[in-house]
Amino acid sequence: MSSLTGEIVSQGIVIGQARVYRDFLHEDFKDEPVSSNPEEEQKRLERAIEKLDHRLDETYQNVKLSLGEEEAEIFRSHQQILEDPGFVGEIKKGIEAGTRAEKAVQQVTRLLSEQFKNLDDEYLQQRAADMEDIGRQLIEFLMNNENQGESSDYILCGTDIPPSEFASSMNSGILGMVMEEGTGFSHTSILAKAKGLPSLVKVEGLLENVRDGDRIILDALDGHVVVNPDENTLKKIQEIRSDWENKKQKALEKANEPCITADQKTISIFANAGSVQDVRAALENGAEGVGLFRTEFIFLNRKEAPSEEEQYQIYSEVLKMMKDKPVIIRTLDIGGDKDVPYMNLPDEENPFLGLRGIRYCLENQEIFKAQLRALLRSAHHGNLYIMIPMISMAEEVREVKAFLNDVMNELTQEDEIFEEPRYKLGIMVEVPSVVETIDHFVQEVDFFSIGSNDLVQYLFAADRIAPNVKRWYDVQQIALYRMIEKVVAAARDAGKEIGVCGELANNQQIAQLLVSLGVEKLSMSPAQIPMIKSVIRKLHAGDLFKKWKQHSSRHSTIDGLWD
Ligand code: PEP
Ligand code: MG
Repeated sequence: MSSLTGEIVSQGIVIGQARVYRDFLHEDFKDEPVSSNPEEEQKRLERAIEKLDHRLDETYQNVKLSLGEEEAEIFRSHQQILEDPGFVGEIKKGIEAGTRAEKAVQQVTRLLSEQFKNLDDEYLQQRAADMEDIGRQLIEFLMNNENQGESSDYILCGTDIPPSEFASSMNSGILGMVMEEGTGFSHTSILAKAKGLPSLVKVEGLLENVRDGDRIILDALDGHVVVNPDENTLKKIQEIRSDWENKKQKALEKANEPCITADQKTISIFANAGSVQDVRAALENGAEGVGLFRTEFIFLNRKEAPSEEEQYQIYSEVLKMMKDKPVIIRTLDIGGDKDVPYMNLPDEENPFLGLRGIRYCLENQEIFKAQLRALLRSAHHGNLYIMIPMISMAEEVREVKAFLNDVMNELTQEDEIFEEPRYKLGIMVEVPSVVETIDHFVQEVDFFSIGSNDLVQYLFAADRIAPNVKRWYDVQQIALYRMIEKVVAAARDAGKEIGVCGELANNQQIAQLLVSLGVEKLSMSPAQIPMIKSVIRKLHAGDLFKKWKQHSSRHSTIDGLWD
């Protein structure tokens, strides 16, 4: 039995067999053909292509149903690679020359992906990963390994599992996911969270310790994996799990009830969403609004920006689904770690400190304008809040307001019956300069939302996705909560709404602290809502606040605040 620790991406406890994701692109195949007959090899290849095409089709349909069209689109583009003569034709040539099919796929994939990686065009660079993904799956089919995915009750383990592998596992018996590397912000992690599958990343030593078929406990409540546990450990974890399942079930039964603390403070619990499907999950879990709709997901995994009309349809649908509940739609926050090849983002040394979010939009007004037009048109369908990301100076807000005004005039001039919609305008508080000059911002906007993910990175000067500075990206630090306390008090004194979105609010203890610091709106992953509501209903916010005051004057982190 061995125990390893990692970082929690999505909570829960599962027990199952390990299925280790193998990287067929780097496996050492023998040179000689399996059938020693090129014609036979060509037939094997054709069969593998057909099966993979079929699987991609199924994956596309399933992901579209469970997570939405934008998330599914990547699998359509993967199918196009299978039709590309430059890819398949080269593999066939290799086979003709006497190479075994697996090896031919491996050679062509590696060669083409290397060529793509060296090109200047970022879109083509991105295609290298897609090509590797397809090559890997083709080899999997050639080796008749494809049935692995259909086995039941397994936990997918790997170094850094690609989204396609994860998505194609989603409809078989996958129970959870563990990665040796990876980050909580990768596309695979986002899919795992959306699906509510217990998952860990950054589990050091995983592949050294886990073999295919090993029984493992994935404890994504405490952040560890136990390989081949003894009976005693199994018994203990099963008790913890059934306790957790009971709590979850009870919380779900009360998910639609209001969230009022034990000392009578009413807290609004909202959901973070990136697609229409997430909004559906938000409603099912008792969300009282959408606290953050990340519009960038509509722009990812495609060849060109979505049109104004396409955006209008999506925003309208979300607003209609939520009826009169508030829906905070954030304008495009591209840049940083979210690159979109067709948008020609500059090649920057420090993209998180570069042309990101509103900075990009103000410099690329056509894209911004299409989004604002879509938002203003959709506002008639519900209770719209427009939120601007990455604001660092009040001038930017004034510029946005002037631009919004122009867009509104344009719409009213184009269409005489277009009525000016009602909406609220707000900003994310994620750059510390906003906290220092909050008195300037309260005069400009209707509401604020604290983007804790970025606030932490900019406050401690620690890249949010770089593993080597993980220690400094520390959400336990008092400095962070002092800053939140200060900005919440200032906004509320000025009569402005302020909430917290970002990962902080998903954490049960931290959510309690945020409420004690005066935050009245929390936004989180839909799956967390019932549990956070139930924890906060038991909270004596005033008592925790007193503890905070004492603790924060003596300690540098919040560790021990609850003891
Ligand atoms: C944040 O920064 O906290 C946030 C919610 O936005 P994102 O994670 O998309 O940058
Ligand atoms: Mg942010």
